Amino acid sequence: MGDEKLKQELLYIVKISSKYDFHNKDVVENILRMENERQILTSVFGKRFKARIFDIAYDQEHDGKCIICGNIANETGTVCNDCIEKISGSPYAKSVLKSDEVVEKSSIFKSKVWPILSKFILACLVLVLIIQLAILGMWLSIPTRNPKVDPYISKNELVAVNDSGEALEQVLLDYPKDQGYSVSFIRLDQDYVGRFNNPVGESSSEIEEALTDEERYDYFFQEPVYVFHVTYSEKYAVKVGVVEVNADGKILVEGQFNDGRDTHSFYRIR
Ligand SMILES: [Zn+2]
Repeated sequence: MGDEKLKQELLYIVKISSKYDFHNKDVVENILRMENERQILTSVFGKRFKARIFDIAYDQEHDGKCIICGNIANETGTVCNDCIEKISGSPYAKSVLKSDEVVEKSSIFKSKVWPILSKFILACLVLVLIIQLAILGMWLSIPTRNPKVDPYISKNELVAVNDSGEALEQVLLDYPKDQGYSVSFIRLDQDYVGRFNNPVGESSSEIEEALTDEERYDYFFQEPVYVFHVTYSEKYAVKVGVVEVNADGKILVEGQFNDGRDTHSFYRIR
């Protein structure tokens, strides 16, 4: 048996002798049960100790001597004061005490630092949640900041036009210069004139997707179309779009004037 093991065993005997009353059968049975599992008390002193606490618990006669040195035992019935002093004050006992302190320090982390740290982590998580909710709130408020509006429908009558100048006059009725609009003629085109037969306010892309082949043929026949650029400057934004006018004076618009609608699709305003 190693020296270290014996020192450990003696310290264990002294410790539990000072701690427990061996007249209590439950205490002794618990110690003996634990001993069965852990096998600490295996030296001659350990074996004497087990026999002694069993005798005390079950009122068996014993010699009343210290199981370590053989002098008269103190009130514990197992060891004497002299042995307790020597063993408790030994360098080995002191080194064990120090390592107990280390264990205690780590339990200080668990009992004192961890509760504070866990509250801090919880606060951080709550903060993250609040930020996420704020972002969600902003996201949900976007539609109200940039609301969908009904397509603009012209109140002006259809007036047939013969050239780009007359067509410009008609466009300016809906997009007047004095309201900040700027209209300029780009070119004469002749495709997609079927769009001029769409109902006022309807998106051409939706209608074109639903066309049959025969309808498509009619839709894409050719006629002269006057094409204009329209721009509009606000304090913080500029809107641009394309306006087309056919010979009947019907007008199509594509671009940022149809807020909230498909800005890449023409729709008829007149
Ligand atoms: Zn003794």
